[in-house]
Amino acid sequence: MTKPTTISQLISDPSCMNDYDPNAMPVAKARQFIKQFLSPVIETEILTLRESLGRVLAADILSPANVPNYDNSAMDGYAFNALDLDTEHLKVIGTAFAGKAFSGVVACGECVRIMTGAAMPQGTNTVAVQEKVLRDGDVITLTEAPKPHANVRYAGEDLQQGQTVLTTGHLMRPADLGLIASLGVAEATVCRKLKVAFFSTGDELVGLGKPLETGQVYDSNRYTLFGMLSRLGVEIIDLGAIADDPAILEKTLFDAAHQADVVITSGGVSVGEADYMKLLLAKHGQVMFWKIAMKPGRPLAYGKVGNAHYFGLPGNPVAVMVTFYQFVREAMLSLMGQASDGQPGSAPLPLFSVECTVPIKKLTGRTEFQRGILFTDASGTWKVKPTGGQGSALLSSMSLANCFIVLDETIGNLDAGAMVQVQVLDGII
Ligand code: AMP
Ligand code: MG
Repeated sequence: MTKPTTISQLISDPSCMNDYDPNAMPVAKARQFIKQFLSPVIETEILTLRESLGRVLAADILSPANVPNYDNSAMDGYAFNALDLDTEHLKVIGTAFAGKAFSGVVACGECVRIMTGAAMPQGTNTVAVQEKVLRDGDVITLTEAPKPHANVRYAGEDLQQGQTVLTTGHLMRPADLGLIASLGVAEATVCRKLKVAFFSTGDELVGLGKPLETGQVYDSNRYTLFGMLSRLGVEIIDLGAIADDPAILEKTLFDAAHQADVVITSGGVSVGEADYMKLLLAKHGQVMFWKIAMKPGRPLAYGKVGNAHYFGLPGNPVAVMVTFYQFVREAMLSLMGQASDGQPGSAPLPLFSVECTVPIKKLTGRTEFQRGILFTDASGTWKVKPTGGQGSALLSSMSLANCFIVLDETIGNLDAGAMVQVQVLDGII
C-alpha cells in the first residue's frame, strides 16, 4: 500500500472500500489503513517514578551505575577463596551481612559466614551454601565442594553503567518501576496523557436514575467506554448521551474535536434514518466509513475531525467493545507513543491456539470475535468454549468472557475439538 498524505486522498482511493462498499473491508486491511495516520503525541513531561506507571517513555532510561553495584553473595553460606577448595577445614573469622560488610581480609584456610546480598569480603570469590557445610564451633567442613566462583553475583552482571535499560516507546509496568528504582533513578520522561472525548448518540438513550419508557434503553456504552479508556490510562472527557438531533450532534462533535486528541462516538454511523453522525462527518471531517467483514461490529468509521482522530463505533453494546479492542485500543497505544520491536506503533494483541470443546457455527468471509471462556479440563489442560448467546446486544456475554475466540475469514463451521485462536482479555500486569 503506498502511503497517502491525507485521509481525503484515501477516501477517493477505491482500495479504501469507503462508504459501505458492498464488499466488506477485511479487519486486517482496516487496521492497516488506520495505522498510517497515527503519529504519537509530541509533548512530554517528567514524572516521579510512581506517577509514570502506565505511561509511555519519551526518552531512553540509561543505567547511571553498575547493577549490582558490588560483587555479592547469591546465597546464605560461607565465602572463601576457590584456591582453598581442597582444604579440609576452613576457619570462620567473621560474618558479612547484607548492608553490613565484613571489613577484614580473608586469608588462605579462612572463610566468612555470609548472608544473601552481602558484599563478598576481600580475598574471597566463592560461596558454599550453608546446607552443604558442617560447622563445629569456628571450623567448617565442606560436605560437597561448590564450583569455583559459585553463588557469587558480580558487579554489573544485571546492568552495566551507561547501558540502555528501557527504550523510548516502552509502556511502564510494575517491573519497570522496580528496575528504574534499582538504578537509583527517581524520575522518568514520558509522553503526556492522551485526551479522549466520547459521547453516545441515540434518541432512545436514558441516563441512570431515570425510569425507562417503552422503546428506551439505558446508555451502557458510555460505561464500557469509560472502563476501557480508564484501563488505558488516558484523560477522559465524557460528553454525555446526545439525542439524534443534527444541530446538537454537530455542536458536540466540534466541542469534542476541539478539546481532545481522540473523539469516540457510539451509534449513528450506520445507514439508519437517524444516523446523522455520518452526514455530519461527511460535511465536517475527513472520515472513512466502512462495512467491516466482522461480527459483531460491521459499521465503523475512522478519520479526522479537525486535528482529532475520530472513531465512530457501532451502537450495539458488544460491537462497541469488540471494535474498541480490535481497532481503537491499538491505535490509542500508538498515539500514546508506544513502540514495539523498535518500531513506532503498538503490537497487536497476541493470539494463542487452544481446543474448543463445543461445535461452532460460523460463515466464511468474515472474522468473528466470539466471546469465550478459557477453562481447565479435568487433566488441567486449558480449553475454551463460547459464552453462549453471541448477539451483539448481549453484554452479559462480555461479562462472562475471559477471552475472544477469533475465527478468521477462512474459517467455517467447526466441530467440537477443533483448535481455535483466542485473545486473552484478563491480564495480570
Ligand atoms: P445504532 O448504531 O445507533 O443504530 O444503534 C444500534 C443499536 O445499539 C440500537 O439497538 C441502539 O439502541 C443500541 N445502542 C446505541 N447506543 C447505545 C448506548 N449508548 N447504550 C446502549 N445501547 C445503545
Ligand atoms: Mg442510533
